[in-house]
Amino acid sequence: MKESLLDVSLEELEKFVAASGGQKFHAAQIKKFSNFGFEVEEISVISKQLREILSKSFVSNPVKIIQEIESKDGTKKFLFQLLDGNVIEGVLMSYHHGKTLCISSQVGCRMGCKFCASTLGGLVRNLSSSEILGQVLSVNRALGAKVSERKITNLVLMGSGEPLDNYENVVRFIKEISGPNSLNISQRNISLSTCGLVEKIYRLADDGLQITLTISLHAPNDEIRRKIMPVASSQPIEKLIESAKYYFDKTGRRVVFEYAMIDGVNNSAACAAELKKLLGGLCCHINLIPLNSVEERNLKGAPKHQVYWFKDKLVSLGLSATVRRTMGEDIEGACGQLRAKFLKNS
Ligand code: SF4
Repeated sequence: MKESLLDVSLEELEKFVAASGGQKFHAAQIKKFSNFGFEVEEISVISKQLREILSKSFVSNPVKIIQEIESKDGTKKFLFQLLDGNVIEGVLMSYHHGKTLCISSQVGCRMGCKFCASTLGGLVRNLSSSEILGQVLSVNRALGAKVSERKITNLVLMGSGEPLDNYENVVRFIKEISGPNSLNISQRNISLSTCGLVEKIYRLADDGLQITLTISLHAPNDEIRRKIMPVASSQPIEKLIESAKYYFDKTGRRVVFEYAMIDGVNNSAACAAELKKLLGGLCCHINLIPLNSVEERNLKGAPKHQVYWFKDKLVSLGLSATVRRTMGEDIEGACGQLRAKFLKNS
């Protein structure tokens, strides 16, 4: 299997280029183009001969877009293929303030959340930092970006996988993508969504990144949470909220809680009152998500009027809450659905 240029250091590349008859500065040029997602054949500033030698050993980006579907609302869903043949997915959403790409951190997931299609086949493997980066670079290029150009403005680590279950690679990726040699996306424009791995939240807070921490809460207590999120059995809700407080104290970044509205499960007035008790003292925001239906699961999304009723209830209790706009419903917009369909049909 060929190696990705994203995984090769400048020093290693200089040695390779020298052994192939090129000059030291060619290595820097190659690195620059590959850092922006250009394929080896597209690196026109080096000779055809050097490109040919290079392409025998390397690919530039370890991630290739193999399918692209556009929704009626403009949301785009991407199916990516990795060098070992595994597939992952991403979603591009266009807002007035820019373009947000939702990316994956693992092939599959072992967390088992009941409302999620990504976890249906369990965890296959972690993604390397260059495979996470490669998703962003390939979409940035597909949008027509040139070298040093950034078409994507915001990132959410909310695709398949639990990012904190692949901690080192995810943090390495965040540092790279926000650095001057890559797309230089501000860490403040990056959100990491976790199902709530308490110890890793403390570690993230101590690592001093400036990203937004988003916690998939989906329930106001352990009893309901355990029914839909197996992780709740080992990560009690009280400890989770303590870790969120710590994250805010350390970083000054408001924590976001995701709350998928599931009919008859977590959408009662009593649930709203419990949420107030749980989150009242914390600088946070609650994002209510009308649940996308997932064929393989029996959970039904709460009706739209219920979602807005619940939002008003939370706001009247003094909490900050909004309803997230559903995007890409006609193209399997929810986490893991496109990949699940691809695997079923292949
Ligand atoms: S919601 Fe996230 S953590 Fe839960 S199973 Fe899906 S990908 Fe994994």
